[in-house]
Amino acid sequence: MRDTAPNSWDARAESASFYGFTDLPTIAERGTVVLTHGDGPYVHDTNGKRYFDSNSGLWNMVAGFNHPKLAEAAKAQYDRFPGYHSLFGRMSDQTVMLSETLIEVSPYAHGKVFYTNSGSEANDTMVKMLWFLGASEGQPQRRKIITRWNSYHGVTAVAASMTGKPYNSVFGLPLPGFLHVGSPHYWRFGQEGETEAQFTQRLARELEATIIKEGPDTIAGFFAEPIIGAGGVIPPSEGYFQAVQAVLKKYGIPLIADEVITGFGRTGNLWGCQTYDFVPDAIIASKAMTAGYFPMGAILLGPDLADRLQDASNAIEEFPHGFTASGHPVGCAIALAAIDLVVNGGLAENVRALTPKFEAGLAQLAENPNIGEWRGKGLMAALEAVQDKATKTPFPGTLSVSERIANTCTDHGLICRPLGQSIVLCPPFICTEAHLDEMFEKLDAALKKVFAEIV
Ligand code: PLP
Repeated sequence: MRDTAPNSWDARAESASFYGFTDLPTIAERGTVVLTHGDGPYVHDTNGKRYFDSNSGLWNMVAGFNHPKLAEAAKAQYDRFPGYHSLFGRMSDQTVMLSETLIEVSPYAHGKVFYTNSGSEANDTMVKMLWFLGASEGQPQRRKIITRWNSYHGVTAVAASMTGKPYNSVFGLPLPGFLHVGSPHYWRFGQEGETEAQFTQRLARELEATIIKEGPDTIAGFFAEPIIGAGGVIPPSEGYFQAVQAVLKKYGIPLIADEVITGFGRTGNLWGCQTYDFVPDAIIASKAMTAGYFPMGAILLGPDLADRLQDASNAIEEFPHGFTASGHPVGCAIALAAIDLVVNGGLAENVRALTPKFEAGLAQLAENPNIGEWRGKGLMAALEAVQDKATKTPFPGTLSVSERIANTCTDHGLICRPLGQSIVLCPPFICTEAHLDEMFEKLDAALKKVFAEIV
């Protein structure tokens, strides 16, 4: 509960910090969880309470909260060369090495990498790259961007315009030219009597109709998360990316995979596009790239876009874009260590090893009469609460069901994330089976308690 003493951490946090993506009435009642440190998959607060963080921070702390190799990589690089940009013909050796490594572990035989400080900036930058390409290739009208309803691509003005969430209307977004098509969530949006394959075909037809209506030569790109993350963990419907990519190829529209969450092992393969068997034209990466130990984003350009963007840049002698901390040497050194942990240090293997137990635990919780479905892949999943399982009727929004479940979990030392009427779980890759047992036991108790209160 919120500590009302004037010098409490709660009071101090509220007095000088402006909160984002936080339900303020909940803060007024419960206060702020002020964290001091972590060990493995746990974080500790200023009251000495320990929480299992089943969200890996914000999907990103895949190696846990005190991995010695990442801290060592950071310290060694801070000692050696603590900061630099990657502009004006200069970049650090770490930046060179990270780009090589990223292309090596990418689905591309050759390609190029551009760095940002976040996933939002990477999406924003990719859009600017597509606009730049259109203008340079004599198609300045090719500026529209298509994404899906309920997708999440970030918060900068462009990334928020791509995000298919109604809350962005408070900012007067989306900007003109940002279009949204249907979400591939068969359980929720499949029609009576429609098979999953038919549902997928319907979405592909909707995409094609949108392209034709808008004018194929006005569309600069289509962005999609292999699994929609912050929209409530929504894996694609059967054959979705094959159907959509066929449409995009027909009109020469690049498919950009936003792998900010799914990149670097979360779904059991290094990339979500490998899990769903497609090769995008570019990949947006962030989060697990540095295991959350440094803010960093990257665009991995596949061969076609890399070559065309190189030509476009050559024509005007530069690509006029970049951030002060693009390709920061400390971020790059940490990313090299983090990728090594995932690829060679057993973390991706551990995701695959834990997946059957994770899925079994989710399936068991989904037997609860107020859980409509569990969905996910690898170590990312959601459980969706429903008032009526047969009709998939949600609880009234006023009951704030997922927030109540998440708050109950927090009280019992488990951090999990409420998203819509779902609870999201994406534990760190370093977890053990015992950690998953602890997570499921605590969540089960919270589900039972909250449903008993409101049903
Ligand atoms: N894209 C996806 C798929 C994300 O999940 C996120 C953040 O959660 C972003 C982009 C934005 O990344 P950032 O918060 O680093 O700007």
